[in-house]
Amino acid sequence: MKMISIKKSDWAGAMEKVQKSYRLAGPVKEKKGHTFRELKDGETPDLEYSETRMSVKEVVLPQSEVMFSYSLDENKEGHHILEEVPFDETPRAAVGIRPYDAKAVEILKKNFMTEDYKDPYFERRYENLTLVGMAENNPSPVNFSTSCGTGPFDESCLDIILADAGDSYIGKALTEKGEKFAAAAGFAEGDSGVEAKLAELKEQAEGKIKSKVSFDKIEKMTILDLYEAPFWEEAAFACINCGTCTYACPTCWCFDIQDEVKGKDGVRMRNWDTCMSEVYSVHTTGHDPRHEAWQRTRNRFMHKLKYYLDKYEDGIMCVGCGRCVSQCPVNIDIRKVCQQMNDYEPSK
Ligand code: SF4
Ligand code: SF4
Repeated sequence: MKMISIKKSDWAGAMEKVQKSYRLAGPVKEKKGHTFRELKDGETPDLEYSETRMSVKEVVLPQSEVMFSYSLDENKEGHHILEEVPFDETPRAAVGIRPYDAKAVEILKKNFMTEDYKDPYFERRYENLTLVGMAENNPSPVNFSTSCGTGPFDESCLDIILADAGDSYIGKALTEKGEKFAAAAGFAEGDSGVEAKLAELKEQAEGKIKSKVSFDKIEKMTILDLYEAPFWEEAAFACINCGTCTYACPTCWCFDIQDEVKGKDGVRMRNWDTCMSEVYSVHTTGHDPRHEAWQRTRNRFMHKLKYYLDKYEDGIMCVGCGRCVSQCPVNIDIRKVCQQMNDYEPSK
């Protein structure tokens, strides 16, 4: 493990240097706050942000991705054959991601890179990606990441961790991928005080997180008990099923595959989907097991806080980033729903 230090005044230069060998994604200032996206050549990841509207999910699981192209035109060579779309093998780095968003990528891997099945689209994006984290000195009031097995300084899923130490960013290269990136960026070696400073900043940041959730009792309840609990209609009453919470969530992994055809040429695309949408669960027969809006809301919370918990026995499908809380137009709050589920006593 290598300590790192870089003056803030040298940051833009380091990113320019690293762009010679990496494609970058990072936080970018927009009209209203920051978002996280792939950067154009010459754009610098802006580490002076408080939160990003979207997460790093887009980098490993794009909102829309062309999987194949084809032509139905018999005059064209290779007509009626699916052609795989070429993949740009240039190494990529997601720079400035929050450490708990890196944990969200690990959660996505549970779906896309299992022992038995590896999604080739996800896998190739993940394998050539370096995750450069930016620890969060001042977590927002809706952040409850420390209750979700991660936190604002969690190093466990990153290749590099950086933290704001005034005039400089300090940190550590945690993996081989991280060391390679640090060398390409020309980060200076940090002195012996870096580790202690990081520990101090971590303690302060975690101490600022007042928002907590508990799921210890959810674990012990049966799925049916929670599924049939009487509070769902009320909990979901205000939900307009807009899907914002699922799109903004770094751990929501649902997708749909569709063909888009123009004339005789077409592409097969994978797009994010949302379980909050009315058509999401409609069967080909027309039957919809979740025809009521509140049933769709129940499904989202049951998946995140119960089905996932039971299936993987590795906590909940949530890293506590708070995006769904701050972006929901009607203030539906996963922390409150989690509390309600955890406090529920089936016999009453
Ligand atoms: S963001 Fe809020 S209103 Fe929209 S689907 Fe999610 S819970 Fe419902
Ligand atoms: S459920 Fe909400 S708080 Fe949890 S990871 Fe998703 S967006 Fe963040």
